[in-house]
Amino acid sequence: MRFSLLRTLGYFAGGLWTAWGGRKRIEARQLRNLRRLVEKARRDSPLFRRLYADLGPSSEVELRELPVTRKPDLMAEFDDWLTIRSLTLDRARDHLRDIRKLGVPIDDVAIFRTSGTSGEPAVVVLPSSFLEYSYGITLARFEQYHWKLVRDMRKLGMRVTITGGNGHFAGAGFNKLVRHLRPRLARGLAFIEAEQSIGQLVEQLNAIGRVSCIVTYPSMLTILAKEKAAGRLQVEPVVISTGGETLTEDLRTRVLQAFPSLKYGILDTYACTECLVLSFECSSGRKHVNEDWVILEAVDEAMRPVPAGTLSATALLTVLANDVQPFIRYDLGDCVRFHTDPCPCGSPFRSFQVEGREATLVRVGEVTLSPLVFDLEHEHARRIQLVQTSERDFEVRIELADEAAPGVVFEELIRSVKRVFRDNGVKDVAVTASQAPPELTASGKFHEVLPLRRSDSRS
Ligand SMILES: [Zn+2]
Repeated sequence: MRFSLLRTLGYFAGGLWTAWGGRKRIEARQLRNLRRLVEKARRDSPLFRRLYADLGPSSEVELRELPVTRKPDLMAEFDDWLTIRSLTLDRARDHLRDIRKLGVPIDDVAIFRTSGTSGEPAVVVLPSSFLEYSYGITLARFEQYHWKLVRDMRKLGMRVTITGGNGHFAGAGFNKLVRHLRPRLARGLAFIEAEQSIGQLVEQLNAIGRVSCIVTYPSMLTILAKEKAAGRLQVEPVVISTGGETLTEDLRTRVLQAFPSLKYGILDTYACTECLVLSFECSSGRKHVNEDWVILEAVDEAMRPVPAGTLSATALLTVLANDVQPFIRYDLGDCVRFHTDPCPCGSPFRSFQVEGREATLVRVGEVTLSPLVFDLEHEHARRIQLVQTSERDFEVRIELADEAAPGVVFEELIRSVKRVFRDNGVKDVAVTASQAPPELTASGKFHEVLPLRRSDSRS
């Protein structure tokens, strides 16, 4: 696997050229890239050859003619999915079982796994071209303040990523991969495992001392903001970058208050393991799709496009920069809403908002609740978690902050949770105290509310 700076420069220059040409050039570029990917998939992926058997010539194909694809179906036919024949699922799984091989390429590709919060984890295969795209396009979308930000970040200290370390997840693995291929690009990067007590994590961050940037999930940020406000966490980053979960306005405000050093604020990106560089956040705080190389469609339950301004039932992803593992109209399960007006930043790329991932919603009978309706805060707790153990049974888990009597904390929290259920018309629910500690997802995300896991997710 090679990471070519020349090809990266190609993505950079191409990305600038496309943006300068406005909508017309973006759409033309996207269609050209799509038809090229469809042709490659038909030629070299037995699965896509079957799937697209009835389509006309690839050079005339339109996006809407292509069938929607889903993770369970693709994973079931993994060996036929890729456009290379040398990497079988068995071989990929062997590699993923060995944590020492995290971020180490296998042949000409890198592999990561998804966390599997919404069902079976996917194995994601990235060719060099995707890495080159990631760097090139990110730089092409920079505004002036981003360049200043990068300079400051390098000057002022380490860039620390805090995510799950117990598996081949891209959060930790991508940096290792870059270090492996281009050591200079990875200078000043550090990694801290999310799976440890908050006390240890804070200690590690304080030991690094000069931290200019923290990259983590919003759920981890909730905790860091609390630790900073309590005076236990001492680092003073100039920027925080979040992803993987929904960052609420309320959390953004709390973090900005807790960290007055955040000169560049919080960059909230929207991406997934299947496409690590999907969108970029602009100076107006909106997320824009990198439409020359990524297609994000907002669709309803029947997979028909919904107009801008409408919240979608799910989103379909097409990754044009990965021709080894084609993701074409791939059902992401996320709800998105495209903005109806152009962004004040002037970018020609469409901007959108993301609503909570479907997997985090709590369902009791006919009622569906957002995890945000629960007030899981307590001055004596570092972490609080509400777990749905069966449809009408919930338990509260706590990691205490000090010597407070757990009984009182539990009592107050249980009362608050029951009030939320009552206010939302949910009756006959049991909420009890649990001695178990709050748990993280496989990739190290902390969900304040863990809904009952539905095994079928989206079939
Ligand atoms: Zn913008």
